[in-house]
Amino acid sequence: MVELRDKASAASVRPPSVVDRVYESIYERLVSLAIAPGARIPIDVIARELNVSQTPVREALSRLEREGLVYKAHLIGYSAAPQLDRKRFDDLYNFRLLVEPHGARLAAQNMTPEALHTLEHIAADMADGGMPVDRNSRYSRFARIDAHFHDEIMRIAGNEVMRSTLYNLHIHLHLFRLMYHSRVTEDALDEHENLLTAFRNGDADAAEAAMREHILKSRERLVPAFE
Ligand SMILES: [Zn+2]
Repeated sequence: MVELRDKASAASVRPPSVVDRVYESIYERLVSLAIAPGARIPIDVIARELNVSQTPVREALSRLEREGLVYKAHLIGYSAAPQLDRKRFDDLYNFRLLVEPHGARLAAQNMTPEALHTLEHIAADMADGGMPVDRNSRYSRFARIDAHFHDEIMRIAGNEVMRSTLYNLHIHLHLFRLMYHSRVTEDALDEHENLLTAFRNGDADAAEAAMREHILKSRERLVPAFE
């Protein structure tokens, strides 16, 4: 995921900048609903809270705007992207079901010990929860790592068109905003483990099936958000 973003940005050779830090902070607030879907994002307030000038906040917001995560309206300024509606939710899952199980099959066929090691490392990172931080950071961190895990599988699959199309939809951010729920995170870990088992065994059929199962169960967990 990082690689993709770096490729698309001139900032790739620099260490994390003030803009990156502001971007991360706003991203985290979007995932954890600290900034609600559709809510205004006042530049001056964010700048004050992060103790930075308004310039990096503007830059971070225009990056988020290019990614479709915030919107800018004349005279109103920036707002968080609206919550997914049921149609968009169904469309996203149908798309995932078309692309990701096939991606998992390709990844199983292309798997190397190094690639498997990277995936296992990401999965372990996800399970351990990281540093004891507040619930918001923990939740958004989980969303980021889950996105990274899925992106890494697509990277291993080797089809950059499939990978970048999925990446640019920011599916994980949108889905995690739907339901702030710990079960979403715990159940996913077991399903990722099934995927890893298939990869370890070099079993392309099992990898495809495990990914399909993971996406179907993820959809099941989130559907109640619309009820
Ligand atoms: Zn997942």
